[in-house]
Amino acid sequence: MSESKQLFFALSLPDEIQQQIISWRAASFADGAGRPVAAANLHLTLAFLGEVSPEKQRALSAMAGRIRQPGFTLTLDDAGQWLRSRVVWLGTRQPPRGLLQLANMLRAQAARSGCYQSPRPFHPHITLLRDAASAVAIPPPGFRWSVPVSGFSLYQSHFARGRTRYVQLEHWSLTE
Ligand code: ATP
Ligand code: MG
Repeated sequence: MSESKQLFFALSLPDEIQQQIISWRAASFADGAGRPVAAANLHLTLAFLGEVSPEKQRALSAMAGRIRQPGFTLTLDDAGQWLRSRVVWLGTRQPPRGLLQLANMLRAQAARSGCYQSPRPFHPHITLLRDAASAVAIPPPGFRWSVPVSGFSLYQSHFARGRTRYVQLEHWSLTE
């Protein structure tokens, strides 16, 4: 019998932007401010699904494949800290309509399939530092990355040997 997997839909970043972000992070945050997320693990979660059975995964995947909407540009120009989750994040001052539409659709499909529904409203963000110290100095505004978003992916979150890895299971292109 196959097992459930912990899954989520997310956006990844082009390699070049991943590298720019980690260089900026190294230069902008004090050592010891928090535990840096590895470049390849930087992502923006669209919908967290929790533990999903293979049957549900197939249904979710079929629904995701029917999404029709154009790509969009995400501007990363904001950063902040959530004290409760001890996270320092990178985000956007103005979420593009396409991003909200995509996340809402995936969250609605997940709800319809009876997946775990996060009580958290959608706060688009990319986690930069985990286990952040109580008050991290956030770099002043002025940084900005324009991320062209042409698709989204389904990831499995895997915890092994003391660390979490994300494995991309499927990818869909955004097209009308
Ligand atoms: P770990 O929990 O193992 O330290 P992680 O938080 O990166 O690592 P997951 O918990 O599998 O891994 O989360 C995958 C993604 O989904 C992350 O972006 C995480 O912030 C987000 N996420 C996790 N739990 C929830 C939740 N209850 N509601 C919304 N998003 C969530
Ligand atoms: Mg987690």
